[in-house]
Amino acid sequence: RLVLGIETSCDDTGAAVMDGSGAILGESLHSQKEVHLRTGGIIPTVAQQLHRENIQRVVQEALDRSGVAPAELSAVATTVKPGLALSLAVGLEFSQRFVRRHNKPFIPIHHMEAHALTVRMLHAVPFPFLVLLVSGGHSLLAVARGVDDFLLLGRTLDEAPGDTLDKVARRLSLRKHPRCATLSGGQAIELLAKDGDRRRFGFRTPMGQTTDCCFSFAGLRNQVTMLIKKTEAEEGVEEGTLLSQVSDIAAATQHTVASHLAKRTHRAVLFCKANGLLPADNPTLVLSGGVASNQYIRRALLIIAEATGLRLLCPPARFCTDNGPMIAWNGVERLREGRGILPPGVDVSYEPRAVLGLDLTAEVRAAA
Ligand code: ATP
Ligand code: FE
Repeated sequence: RLVLGIETSCDDTGAAVMDGSGAILGESLHSQKEVHLRTGGIIPTVAQQLHRENIQRVVQEALDRSGVAPAELSAVATTVKPGLALSLAVGLEFSQRFVRRHNKPFIPIHHMEAHALTVRMLHAVPFPFLVLLVSGGHSLLAVARGVDDFLLLGRTLDEAPGDTLDKVARRLSLRKHPRCATLSGGQAIELLAKDGDRRRFGFRTPMGQTTDCCFSFAGLRNQVTMLIKKTEAEEGVEEGTLLSQVSDIAAATQHTVASHLAKRTHRAVLFCKANGLLPADNPTLVLSGGVASNQYIRRALLIIAEATGLRLLCPPARFCTDNGPMIAWNGVERLREGRGILPPGVDVSYEPRAVLGLDLTAEVRAAA
């Protein structure tokens, strides 16, 4: 089995050719991060234009590197939900033309399902397992019971943790900081936090009173912004020019994000145990998404995993962020199970918003 995977849901144009065992035969990735860092956020029309400029080359590169001809492919798998409409459209239109031209089956992919399954490309992780996905656009806790069988236990009610870290970093003008010029907001905060005292400023952990597994980061961002304003006023400096306190603010912000994620995950583990949703033998917690490369956050999750008897698995950074192989792998898994494989002529539409699996967020709240 040979699958071509294509990813364009956000700001990365990715493609990979994979065999049935999960071996990456060829891959290519074009990241738009630099462009979007300069404009201070993703402008959808710009993202679409960059996907259009790069998709042909990226797919061709993945095929060339693999030495696989289009005729040899078993199927093409492409992200069709959720994501930015304009970005999803580019990958989908390209793929639809490609499968028609080469007469190949098409496998529409849910981006978050792909993030959740990536770990199985690298480790033998049987279903079911608990997964925490944290990135610039998402934050969710789910039980993966099968390739296309998920129970959603929690999701963010406002913004995603990576988005919060990016916004705090922008408010602190960390791009102008000599050590952070080329880093994403989350990376900059992790780096500066290493020299900071997380206890100097205290932030309330979000949603302390609610009994579900959902997340909220907008209130934390508000607390951080108010503290920055107050400190700037006290120091008599202009907006975005704080120096000495930046590390302490970064450390406190990172700590509160980690603590919120850890507490929600702890609750999710307890819910799973009470309802027999995880195997008694060697249960697994998977942590993935761009924010999962944060070592402080990983340690916080490791503490929860160890305390509840779960093993923690976290794919390496390049598989935590958006990439072609994870989409190809999802295609391989679906092909193996014969789930959601469409003949070449079938029209498929993209869906900017799409829940992952069965939404149990209300049940989790009621059960507490
Ligand atoms: P999507 O949700 O569609 O995957 P995305 O492209 O924004 O969206 P990723 O590429 O997975 O997501 O991750 C990028 C996010 O991860 C950014 O918000 C970035 O700040 C954050 N991030 C990257 N490295 C770190 C780190 N070391 N610590 C914390 N956050 C980080
Ligand atoms: Fe993603």
